[in-house]
Amino acid sequence: MKAVVLTAPRRLAVVDDLPEPVPGPGDVVVALEGLGVCGSDLSVYEGHRAVPATPWVVGHEAFGRIVATGSAVTGHTVGRRVVVEPNYACLDCADCRRGLTSACPHRAIVGMNAPGLLAERFAVPAGFAHAVPDDLDVRDLAAFEPYAVARTAVARSGITKGERALVLGAGAQGLLVSQSLLALGAEPVVVELQPGRLARAVALGATAAGDDDRGFLRLYETTGAAPALAAALPRLAPGATLTLIGLDPAPLPLTTDQVVRGLLTIQGSLIYDHPHDFRAALDDITSGRVHPSVALTTRYAFQDAPRAFAEARGQAGKTWIEGPR
Ligand SMILES: [Zn+2]
Ligand SMILES: [Zn+2]
Repeated sequence: MKAVVLTAPRRLAVVDDLPEPVPGPGDVVVALEGLGVCGSDLSVYEGHRAVPATPWVVGHEAFGRIVATGSAVTGHTVGRRVVVEPNYACLDCADCRRGLTSACPHRAIVGMNAPGLLAERFAVPAGFAHAVPDDLDVRDLAAFEPYAVARTAVARSGITKGERALVLGAGAQGLLVSQSLLALGAEPVVVELQPGRLARAVALGATAAGDDDRGFLRLYETTGAAPALAAALPRLAPGATLTLIGLDPAPLPLTTDQVVRGLLTIQGSLIYDHPHDFRAALDDITSGRVHPSVALTTRYAFQDAPRAFAEARGQAGKTWIEGPR
């Protein structure tokens, strides 16, 4: 069976001798149709994020068709198209029990601490394979998982229709946050230094932030770059909520003095909670309210996956890879 494996930093190989997946009783086996390449996959590829073993199957934002079901699986049938929720929480620990599966310490993070999905076929716990209608644009599925991340951050922030929000960054996550805000009837105002990316956000219906745009009560940080946040702080009104999605190991560029005097609320948002956040995001695409494919730019064939990873950082938008034919 074909798969794309990392053998060393920046070295990917397309192999055809990976063993077939053996589904557990509660798993389904999925034949890959497409997979989006994410920043965290690139961190693995570049060697910045250690993986348990090599060769390592990469990738996590996958969709495909069910080709087999485990003996205990109900409610899934062979032939259905599914999109994978690639964080398998244990559903049994204290965090999972209070609904915060994103914080589960036992979470299998696909492509990071559990093998990835850029393979001809793979096994997934049935509850983490969400059936989707056949008539959806597969491009919307290739960018679906990061849309679920963006939508969850927007939902957690509690923003409502008509509110204005400052969005830092118009990479894939910034575009998808903007799209989620627009779907809600809120107004994204985007800060993005790269003109090509900014133009994509504006084409979507967001506004480019002017130098004098201030007084924001909502901020969404998607760049993961502390300097971007520092530069945006003067634009906030007292009482603002800052929702942080991008990850940066550097300390926050603000003091407790600024937080207290500014009456600021700082909220972190990591992925999504199982299963409702993924389902809510699916409702958005099946109803046609959003099209996450706006975040995509380049498609590669499965055989060209090594080139897709090598070139991904240089693309204006998100890269995706088709399943093997
Ligand atoms: Zn991702
Ligand atoms: Zn758990």
